[in-house]
Amino acid sequence: MKRLCVVLGLLLLSGCAPTAHTTTLLAMDTVMELTVYGDGGAAELAECESCIRTLEGLFSVTDANSEIYAANHSGGQPVSLSPDTAALLKDALDLCADTDGALDITIYPVVRAWGFTTGEYRIPEAGELQELLQQVDYTKVALDDTSLCLPSNVELDLGAVAKGYTGDRLIALLRARGVTSALLELGGSVHTLGAKPDGSPWSIAIQSPDGAGYAGVLEVQDCAVVTSGGYQRYFEKDGETYWHILDPATGVPAHSGVRSVTIVAANGTRCDGLSTALFVMGPERAAAYWREHRDFDFVLIRDDGSFLVTAGIAEQFSPLDTWQTHDLEILS
Ligand code: AMP
Ligand code: MG
Repeated sequence: MKRLCVVLGLLLLSGCAPTAHTTTLLAMDTVMELTVYGDGGAAELAECESCIRTLEGLFSVTDANSEIYAANHSGGQPVSLSPDTAALLKDALDLCADTDGALDITIYPVVRAWGFTTGEYRIPEAGELQELLQQVDYTKVALDDTSLCLPSNVELDLGAVAKGYTGDRLIALLRARGVTSALLELGGSVHTLGAKPDGSPWSIAIQSPDGAGYAGVLEVQDCAVVTSGGYQRYFEKDGETYWHILDPATGVPAHSGVRSVTIVAANGTRCDGLSTALFVMGPERAAAYWREHRDFDFVLIRDDGSFLVTAGIAEQFSPLDTWQTHDLEILS
């Protein structure tokens, strides 16, 4: 009898707290941590990992077998595309146009010249940058449903949007398997499915752009939260910091008055593209862009450490630690 009670007790306990399945992997040049709640979690995580590997194999700029590599080395000839690459390119090109080229997925020759692809960092001469910028123009990308044609000197880099798209695909996969609660952290691209198993929202921390600790926390559910920051990838030379987000107008790291920007919306691809674009735009243009669209929210940290937060997310955002004393402006 006593044994039966213990078993029943365990069953009841497991009934109210679904099992958490977690895996950590290195993909798309970042550490990813995936947590899925529910009984079939382990199988679903394996499916997620395989989906990530497939998408990485399509989108990588350095993998000689990827579709993007093939396009970049096509010498002006059309290349056929899988549905995933075609879908991501379409969304990315729409964002390039809508952000007036603050996002430009043809920035690859410039990204490579700075060494951000290989880690062999250097500071290109102004003349070299001017030459390379002639190759940067997303309007030259010819895309239809199944194929892509790039002029011979134009090269793509999907680094600004690939993780957001991957998060969307994983959330759709999990939803189709009946999962109702999951947290997927793909580096700075965080994707939530439903709420926590107890019904409360997820607490998503925003990293401090100082490098250690957190600047704040967002309480959200069923959405993506994507951050771009100058602290995420950079090198230093002669006391100067050079980061990986470049202004397509100048070819140099964007100095727009922003230390980091976090975008919150249902669509992860949009969040990822906008996090990069709004970092390039700076606070004033970012605010104007938000006022025109209002289909996403953001938390932006200015160079002086002050916060600019859109009205739609202000109640769900709390600064943390020493950041609580920083100015916070709500944009409405
Ligand atoms: P994210 O971390 O999402 O902001 O994306 C930054 C990555 O996108 C960089 O590592 C580059 O590969 C690429 N990139 C940098 N600047 C731009 C830009 N202005 N538009 C599009 N891609 C960019
Ligand atoms: Mg991005």
